[in-house]
Amino acid sequence: MVYEWLNKKYEWNLEISNPQIASFPNKFVFICPPNKVKETMKSIEGNIQKEWLRLQELCDIKKENLSDDYFNYSWASTKLNREAENFYVDAHALAQKLLAACKLKPSKIRKSQNGEKCPLCGEYSAKEFDKEEKLCVICATKRRLPEKMMNAKAEILHSTFKDIGFPDTYFLAGAKSKEDSTQNKYYAILLMDGDKMGDLINGETIDAKYCDVVHPKIKEKFGNKTQYSFFKDKRKITPDVHSSISDYLNKFTRERVAKIVETLGGKGKLVYAGGDDVLAILPLENALEITEQISKAYNDILGYAPGISISAALLLVHHKEPLREVIREAHEVLEEIAKIKSKRNSVAIRLKKRSGGDRDFYCRWNSEEYKSFKNAVEYFKGKEVSSSLAYNLSKLKPALNVDGITQEQKEKLFEYECKHSGITDKNIAKDLCNICLACDLNFEAPIIAKFLGGVK
Ligand SMILES: [Zn+2]
Repeated sequence: MVYEWLNKKYEWNLEISNPQIASFPNKFVFICPPNKVKETMKSIEGNIQKEWLRLQELCDIKKENLSDDYFNYSWASTKLNREAENFYVDAHALAQKLLAACKLKPSKIRKSQNGEKCPLCGEYSAKEFDKEEKLCVICATKRRLPEKMMNAKAEILHSTFKDIGFPDTYFLAGAKSKEDSTQNKYYAILLMDGDKMGDLINGETIDAKYCDVVHPKIKEKFGNKTQYSFFKDKRKITPDVHSSISDYLNKFTRERVAKIVETLGGKGKLVYAGGDDVLAILPLENALEITEQISKAYNDILGYAPGISISAALLLVHHKEPLREVIREAHEVLEEIAKIKSKRNSVAIRLKKRSGGDRDFYCRWNSEEYKSFKNAVEYFKGKEVSSSLAYNLSKLKPALNVDGITQEQKEKLFEYECKHSGITDKNIAKDLCNICLACDLNFEAPIIAKFLGGVK
């Protein structure tokens, strides 16, 4: 969008890929003369505020109802002392800390919200914008903006919204209509987020040395000279490195994530992909494959240094579940299960069956458990499997807890019990053993694999 604005404002010709993907950055780093900081910040804030009010008016919100206290703006600046060693690294780290401290105290206090609350967000006062529904100013603007932009060719947001379409979740789940509840119809919500982005931005996960980024001929000529010993040092964060991290993340979302969802996602839709964040709604088939491909693309683009990884939450939900609620839950699964319980670089899958409680499976990418889980999903595709599989396996619990039991003995127990559920493949019995043991004897894990394999 920034490119589009530059093209329009200065008649530049920057190439814009996938303008429909929502990827709006809300954090910027820039360098400017110290005496221009306040002026620049005021101007940025003023321009955003002006544009926000203009968009509301464009959505037919009356002047007296306009919301001018929705966004909070925080900024921090530090002086770059060119004399000091590591001057950019230290100044940047200090600015980050200052910004975090600033955010604790909001720059604007929102006006108190009186009377009836908005039925969509439940936060702001509802006003009667149209006859059918009372909404707050924010929700009314969000609801009306796409249509307004679709018809306004001169607007920068026109290209973002012109072909916008959001598939109904019942359609994604393969139901015939919203009312179709004769069968259990499910779809997947995928939420992903880069692990420890702060460390990446602060240069802690950068693996490259200076000799990796100079021309091989230069390295050959100067590499062994003592005055160039810094060639062997780990590369430090500079504005250039920051700018290239930003470029690579852009490449990741606009080129790779968009392409993966487009190629494998069927009727699915990428809702947003900005920086290291991804949200998509997908049909169940290929949902796991898409998640894995995105995780691989992240490392392909940003490198394979230790600490560079992305975690995922994949929620398998019924099409009648309220979307707002399941997206909130996806955030919880991502933070609490994939990032904390499974210690990042992980995928956490939650099956939300309409009847019965939630079932969770989580493991780290590149783990044996993940390979086993994938094998199980493949195995279950198009197969009839006894509905009592989880129950039959759970009967093994006391035997599995016997002191001194070996892995081989555990696998034998699974092999025996799987036969009772009609699974005679010994390798699959071993895989089911692996995934049940992965999350503290979780006998529901095969059920989730069955579900992803298309067995309801
Ligand atoms: Zn609202």
